[in-house]
Amino acid sequence: MLDLFTIFTKGGIVLWCFRGTNELFAPSVNALIRSVILQERTGSSTFDHNNLTLQYKLDNEFELVFVVAYQKILQLSYIDKFLSDVHLEFRDKYKNELTGGVTRSFVNYNFSNEYNNILSQSEQWAKLQATMPKKMRSFNDSMKSKKTVASMIERKGDEKDAKKSVKIVDIKEEVFDKEDDQNDKEDQILVNRRKLAEKMSKKKGDAKKSPKVLAQPAVDKAGKKPRVWELGGNGKDLPSLDRSKDKPEDARSDFRYDDEMIGTMKGVIQDLEVESEEEEEEDNASSDDEIVPVKQKQSNVGTTNSKQKTGSMFSIFKSLVGSKNLSRDDMQPALDKLRDHLIGKNVASDIAHKLCDSVATKLDGKVLGTFDTIASTVKMTITEALVQILSPKRRVDILRDCIEAKKTNRPYVMTFCGVNGVGKSTNLAKICFWLIENNLNVLIAACDTFRAGAVEQLRTHTRHLNALHPPQKHGGRTMVELYEKGYGKDAAGIAMEAIRYGKDSQFDVILVDTAGRMQDNEPLMRALAKLIKVNQPDLVLFVGEALVGNEAVDQLVKFNQALADYSSDSNPHIIDGIVLTKFDTIDDKVGAAISMTYITGQPIVFVGTGQTYTDLKALNAKAVVHALMK
Ligand code: GDP
Repeated sequence: MLDLFTIFTKGGIVLWCFRGTNELFAPSVNALIRSVILQERTGSSTFDHNNLTLQYKLDNEFELVFVVAYQKILQLSYIDKFLSDVHLEFRDKYKNELTGGVTRSFVNYNFSNEYNNILSQSEQWAKLQATMPKKMRSFNDSMKSKKTVASMIERKGDEKDAKKSVKIVDIKEEVFDKEDDQNDKEDQILVNRRKLAEKMSKKKGDAKKSPKVLAQPAVDKAGKKPRVWELGGNGKDLPSLDRSKDKPEDARSDFRYDDEMIGTMKGVIQDLEVESEEEEEEDNASSDDEIVPVKQKQSNVGTTNSKQKTGSMFSIFKSLVGSKNLSRDDMQPALDKLRDHLIGKNVASDIAHKLCDSVATKLDGKVLGTFDTIASTVKMTITEALVQILSPKRRVDILRDCIEAKKTNRPYVMTFCGVNGVGKSTNLAKICFWLIENNLNVLIAACDTFRAGAVEQLRTHTRHLNALHPPQKHGGRTMVELYEKGYGKDAAGIAMEAIRYGKDSQFDVILVDTAGRMQDNEPLMRALAKLIKVNQPDLVLFVGEALVGNEAVDQLVKFNQALADYSSDSNPHIIDGIVLTKFDTIDDKVGAAISMTYITGQPIVFVGTGQTYTDLKALNAKAVVHALMK
């Protein structure tokens, strides 16, 4: 009898949904949001749209909206009670998860049973009410019938704040297709970004502890607005996906830069930092049975006698110390734990198996007298295996290739692609800074012609970069220029014009920024394949965020596949390398980095480690091993 019941966050993420018919509900729900909830219109808690009546309840504490929709012609006396009961039950069941705030989208909301129970109870209650003699309404009852949206909001702070917090974005039809645990991938990405925002703001508070973070908590301010993308190539044409008329998003002026950066990025990109061998040896010498993780060590600097004992991965092998010649059977329990440990760090399970196997082979038949011997053997074995996995099939030496291209009087062209919001433009700007530091002048081609604000964001970076490296320091030559043609135009065409202009104007490098797109979005993936086919860049870089773990692996695999499928070339140009961003936010969950290279064989060319121009590093197996061993 009910057509729709949906529970969504004020950020527009649908947590749970029941859909009774195949009717399109998004227009009605969005109309409700726009005309009633956003405006806090007073009046009834029901709203009519087309042939539907929508009734809703807001939960301001957890920032949730509960909406039920049914045919207008129906008179359902239990809806008020039903909404309240569902609201209470949902809050009760998921209060812990909901308190977690941003993590709530990761939760599988299996709410169908409760929903059905409450519905049948409410229907029975309504039947019973109908058979009871009518009583006169109390004053309270009559007030209740006049309740307003404002009165339904369970206010925590004052009214103004509550008003501000009612910011609900449009909801797309597709999201109502998910019942129970179908959290779509984009939701997860959005939530991860909000997690990042939280982290970054915490870091800001911790400024003393981590002086490297120069930037403001960018995502709070600059984070993309939650958006629900079409999953699956559902045949939407490009114009209908155009977002260039949206209100421009902030042009990321939060990206700080200062003169101290100048000259720090000369030469090849530095490796991710790990503790020095000396420190490591000192530690090994000072500890018989424990290895102190890098981070801990850094934070221990300056404390007295700072040896802190922590449980490291090596303790898994403690029980094997002093055993006779080790056999596979002896090792199995430890190997199982090691595998679980690695999987816990986001390492794909077949890679975890492979790593465990190499450890088993190394230890087989050995007598390991001390914990040190076992720890160093395990460490060495895993390092060797990871070096093998992470060693690219082919070398990518951008500086050398740029110089080679320059010798033949042509610019070296790099294209950046990836999902929206992963850090394409930001890391493009960091790479640009690195190139300028190495005396190469750069043309940035603004080919994200979809997202409002994308061009402005690049313009801001161009201004900052030229301020750091002004023409007077480079023989009067402007080191970075932006080639832009605004929005709504064909990105492949703009890239082509930019490359022509770049060649005529003797730029050394051209960096082509492209619009973010979901890996399953066929029209946009076709457009990217076209851009690459017609422009034949020297390097196609996939930008993925470490933050989303193995989702980034899925994106990469699908981008690769789509470029191959839609290229209409017998030898399509697929991804040449990976830029793994937001590495600073993942603590030790480095598994996705390993999987990306392992699965595609493509090298991780750059690792983004923060929000300044100098937060660009190269990945080395040693750093990855360190993170894995914590
Ligand atoms: P795009 O849509 O892919 O071009 O994404 P943006 O370049 O606009 O970046 C989205 C957000 O991620 C911005 O707030 C950036 O400052 C932030 N960001 C990009 N790279 C990194 C990184 O390596 N670490 C951190 N912490 N944030 C990053």
